[in-house]
Amino acid sequence: MCIFCDIVSGKIPVHKVYEDSIALAFLDIAQVTKGHTLVIPKKHSAHMLLCDEDTTLEVYRVARRIAQNIMEMTDAGGINILSNVNEVAGQTVNHFHVHLIPRYNENDSFKIEMNESEPQNLKALAELLYLDSLY
Ligand code: AMP
Ligand code: ZN
Repeated sequence: MCIFCDIVSGKIPVHKVYEDSIALAFLDIAQVTKGHTLVIPKKHSAHMLLCDEDTTLEVYRVARRIAQNIMEMTDAGGINILSNVNEVAGQTVNHFHVHLIPRYNENDSFKIEMNESEPQNLKALAELLYLDSLY
């Protein structure tokens, strides 16, 4: 019971912009800006952090190429590329997807606010988050 798996299997129709054996790209039904596109793996995983590494890399390879094409084929001056992980981050469909949101001007319908929080101890934070090795 996953709507993006139903899209992959063809049960739910979408406007596709790219497809290969690993990934599918289609227009988001609720266009935040003109050309708003989703790139998903055909194989189900709930979000990016639960998807295997090879598939994740392939999804981003496709996303990058589709983003280049959107930039070329529209008058977008920029593009936001993001994947929401879990409800608290705005995820509503629990199948890994990358949003490609072309940007036309700073007052279009996409807003992302990055405001400073209270002062943080950056030294302690960096120590907490430091990763010695990727594996
Ligand atoms: P998120 O909030 O990051 O989980 O994004 C899910 C996205 O899927 C939303 O932007 C929805 O508009 C989009 N979406 C949901 N159902 C469909 C559908 N049937 N076809 C295309 N896009 C969809
Ligand atoms: Zn799914």
